[in-house]
Amino acid sequence: MPEFIRQILSRLLDAGFEAYAVGGCVRDTLLGRVPHDWDVAASARDSDIAALFERTVPTGAKYGTVTVLLPGGSAEVTTFRVDGTYLDGRRPETVAFVSDLREDLSRRDLTVNAMAMDVNGDVVDLFGGREDLRRGIIRCVGDPERRFSEDALRMLRAVRFSAQLGFGIEPGTLAAVRKLSPLAEKVSAERVRAELVKTLDSPRPEIAGLMIEYGLLRRFMTGPGENFRSDLLPACPEDLRTVVFALLAHLADMTDSAAALLRDLRCPAREVKLASEAEAVLRELDGDASDTALLTALTDHSAPPVLAASAALGRIARAERIVRERRYARPGDLAVRGSDLAALGFAGADISRALRALALSVTFGQAENTREALLGLAEKNVKDS
Ligand code: ATP
Ligand code: MG
Repeated sequence: MPEFIRQILSRLLDAGFEAYAVGGCVRDTLLGRVPHDWDVAASARDSDIAALFERTVPTGAKYGTVTVLLPGGSAEVTTFRVDGTYLDGRRPETVAFVSDLREDLSRRDLTVNAMAMDVNGDVVDLFGGREDLRRGIIRCVGDPERRFSEDALRMLRAVRFSAQLGFGIEPGTLAAVRKLSPLAEKVSAERVRAELVKTLDSPRPEIAGLMIEYGLLRRFMTGPGENFRSDLLPACPEDLRTVVFALLAHLADMTDSAAALLRDLRCPAREVKLASEAEAVLRELDGDASDTALLTALTDHSAPPVLAASAALGRIARAERIVRERRYARPGDLAVRGSDLAALGFAGADISRALRALALSVTFGQAENTREALLGLAEKNVKDS
């Protein structure tokens, strides 16, 4: 536990509150991974928390969340979710606090996400989270059907964590995902995208195919996706995976347009644009991802859309190698410019057509990329035509 978290917990404890690190940071610590952020749950109300620390930001007052900033780092501190029945005054305070922690942990989605750690590093594990971590199991806290009915996002999270952690999904939890996947229609596109992207960025991006198989993405797709080649995702460069996912959906007849799919998923405009360029490359390749076809595409397009299209055709390794070795020339790489061709009598669209022809000649070794050779070739082309 980092020092600033110990400080936050201590200050809350000294003021008479209960306080624990909770959720993902406990999970990651037990896995021996470095948590990317720390969340604290406490019996203090947001106003109490704000009063205890010099620098705080009311991040989610509705949920009792306050961000506490210390020199060593910041953490979100959230009030235990309190159930009225625990505050009936008939129980001793400490029991009430334990109940509050239990309540707080039991509202969490997965057993591995539902553990708390106190200031001494002792773990509170009420739902067998540690055992599930050890055995590599994603399991709901409580009855999966009830938990997924409360919040359908949890189904996507269950699948996403299985990809990130490399865990299997417990059969009862998985059966509930399959059964209740239609409820995922209620989840906002932004949230679906966030879970999908985290899955694609994980060590097991092919799990995104299971999101399709389980029916979690049905509302974004027009077809069943039996031919979705999720096996091609792991070899795909991480920064292209969302676009390749959409291209694979397109090739599997699940969407008319990869770009439209990403637009529906509220992906950033640059990704939508890349998908539409990659779709154009796919059309031009028309299933032919031979070296010749890839070199032609790389002469005509920038590398990212060609790499994405190649990945969707199972030729990413080849395409990456060609890009790495830069075995092609683009019109902008040539030793001649449009103005040189204009001087030879080319005009309008013929200039870019001629530049492309010259680039292809260089790419395929039919001409050297020197001014002399290219001007000669261009002149010959004029005469021939
Ligand atoms: P990550 O590494 O992705 O941040 P995390 O476990 O911290 O993982 P968050 O989305 O940051 O995940 O949520 C923090 C904690 O809040 C989770 O560990 C879980 O206990 C709880 N949680 C988040 N979303 C839900 C949900 N939809 N339903 C129930 N509990 C949730
Ligand atoms: Mg988190």
